[in-house]
Amino acid sequence: MDYDVIIVGGGPAGLSASVYARRANLRTAVIEKLTFGGIITTTDLIENYLGFPAISGADFGKAIQEHAMKYEPDMIQAEVKRVSQIEGGFSVETDSGTYTSKTVIVASGAAPRKLNVPGEAELFGRGVSTCATCDGPFFAKKDVAVVGGGDSALSEGIYLSRLVNKIYLIHRRDQLRAEPILQQRFTGLPNVEFVWNSVVTRIEGEKRVTGVLVKNVKTGEERKIDVSAVFVYVGEVPQTDFVDVKKDDHGYIITDENMQSSVPGIFAAGDCRHSLSKQAIISAGEGALAAIAAQMLLEKRLIPQQNA
Ligand code: NAP
Repeated sequence: MDYDVIIVGGGPAGLSASVYARRANLRTAVIEKLTFGGIITTTDLIENYLGFPAISGADFGKAIQEHAMKYEPDMIQAEVKRVSQIEGGFSVETDSGTYTSKTVIVASGAAPRKLNVPGEAELFGRGVSTCATCDGPFFAKKDVAVVGGGDSALSEGIYLSRLVNKIYLIHRRDQLRAEPILQQRFTGLPNVEFVWNSVVTRIEGEKRVTGVLVKNVKTGEERKIDVSAVFVYVGEVPQTDFVDVKKDDHGYIITDENMQSSVPGIFAAGDCRHSLSKQAIISAGEGALAAIAAQMLLEKRLIPQQNA
């Protein structure tokens, strides 16, 4: 076997797992398809990770990457295509080679969910975005739409409000889902107009976004709003297609209390795992526990539980 543990994903869960795995002297690889540090690196501001009262996503990503690298895991930039069981462990097939490992920790996170409306795919990168910190500066002093009522929509909306002229917050209900502190800050902004009980039915524009068509789900009334950009924050989809373990109806991996999946030797941690809440600090904790459990399994000190 090439490794004792292969960690799929280099966000807070995966990098935390790698710190614990390397400190246990496990031969460890972290395989990441995009950015080491994870999707949180695109967040404007993190305020709820204990020990960091206020840190940008970029700085946080850099800090956790540097911390993980101190213990010298193999950091492999590749996309995992398949995890399969083989004699004595697993084969992890990527777009640039296949690796073998005695255990696998799936910490592959989740990708932004799409609206799936006409214009979204065609205008993606030309006004349609899922990353305010990446694309927000292009729309300085313009009117933009933010879709969604969760933590992502509001925290990234707060960032955008400092750049743009006006934000239309389009939400399918008339109550926000985001944590209260974000709701208080967002509703206090001077340049926000709420478009309640409404869904986007079309994103308009030829070369660039020029507007959104929204439909009030209560009255059926349709209305066009002129905007230069649409920031979509309507939740996320777990990235777990490459592994056959028990999952919930949405594709999140179900584990036991030790982060072990229905397949002994495959663990899951972070945003790809079925859990009550997705937070970076929870992901880091789950990653640590998954690595400790993997170590105990390798030492034959962990008895797989049947409730996963
Ligand atoms: P989320 O919490 O799932 O919220 C998604 C929002 O989009 C909800 O308001 C939902 O409406 C709406 N929505 C879902 N599907 C839709 C559709 N097809 N059309 C229109 N609206 C739709 O997702 P998130 O905000 O991306 O957050 C993901 C996870 O990361 C959460 O667990 C969140 O707590 C966490 N997170 C935390 C922080 C933080 O701690 N500051 C920051 C970012 C993310 P309903 O409310 O009606 O369901």
